[in-house]
Amino acid sequence: MIVILKSNADERLVQSLIREFEAQDLKIHFSQGVNSTILGLVGDTAHVDEEKVLANDIVEDVRRISEPYKAANRRFHPMDTVIDICGRKVGAGYFSVIAGPCSVETQPQMETVAASVKESGAAFLRGGAFKPRTSPYSFQGLENEGLRLLLAAKKATGLPIVTEIMSESQLDDFADVDVIQVGARNMQNFRLLKALGRCDKPILLKRGLANTIEELLMSAEYILAGGNSKVIFCERGIRTFETCIRNNLDISAIPVLKKQSHLPVIIDPSHAAGNTWMIEPLSRAAIAAGADGLMIEVHNNPKAALCDGAQSLDLPQFAAVMADIRKRVAFEGRELQG
Ligand code: PEP
Ligand code: MN
Repeated sequence: MIVILKSNADERLVQSLIREFEAQDLKIHFSQGVNSTILGLVGDTAHVDEEKVLANDIVEDVRRISEPYKAANRRFHPMDTVIDICGRKVGAGYFSVIAGPCSVETQPQMETVAASVKESGAAFLRGGAFKPRTSPYSFQGLENEGLRLLLAAKKATGLPIVTEIMSESQLDDFADVDVIQVGARNMQNFRLLKALGRCDKPILLKRGLANTIEELLMSAEYILAGGNSKVIFCERGIRTFETCIRNNLDISAIPVLKKQSHLPVIIDPSHAAGNTWMIEPLSRAAIAAGADGLMIEVHNNPKAALCDGAQSLDLPQFAAVMADIRKRVAFEGRELQG
């Protein structure tokens, strides 16, 4: 981190600022130029609050030259993280498909979808039991009954389950869930992230609708800093000025996250597209750009779905998309899990 001082900075205040940094275990590289004085802070600056430094009367500007995230940073962990979930590997190019309905609705629905997506080659079963809906009048999920139906489908098929948590108070109820999803709307629920840092379950962390990649990395950092190293990123589309799709799938998030971090990256084409016809092309793009997996919404009867029917593949459509995915993952020399 570099701190640029104002040209007329009082020497006593400069020395006091330097002592403040030294008290934080930082070494100071002092550089006196003709027009400005620069302090180079050497050491772990992740804890230094830029705003606080900037609020100082003698400080002109503050610039970070290294990223504010450490545990999520590839610089300090050059090897890809591989997370083993019930024998499925996630990361380092191992490729997993998570499939299932937006919401858990009924027992026959879950039984039918789970058996079919397994047959088609999915590695994980998804389904929302607690749904974060824009309208309070929309279907909110079956809640604990939904968790029970998911666990029954896991028992019947052997597929590990992925489902969304809304609050840290639900952690005990999620004891048998294999992967806890943090939805886009909760990406910066810092209390929740801290609580997830204290548990040892894999976390699927979705990018917020209007969050930067650095903010996503910082949210992962919350979980990692708490001691849980099993974080998987999920890019699910962001809001832009475009109106002909639900969200813009940010394919460039894949190479950027892979460059900046060692954690796996999964793509959710369903919430990005908001329709079914774009699932296959977006999935192809994700595979080609280096994603470690896909999360796809699948329903036995999309027209009657209680949530996100327009973007849900029916069972034969998913089988066809999965056949295409299988071919392309093999072409890239990667190993499909499931
Ligand atoms: C979901 O996966 O069902 C979901 C609500 O996704 P998102 O948080 O990305 O909107
Ligand atoms: Mn959905």
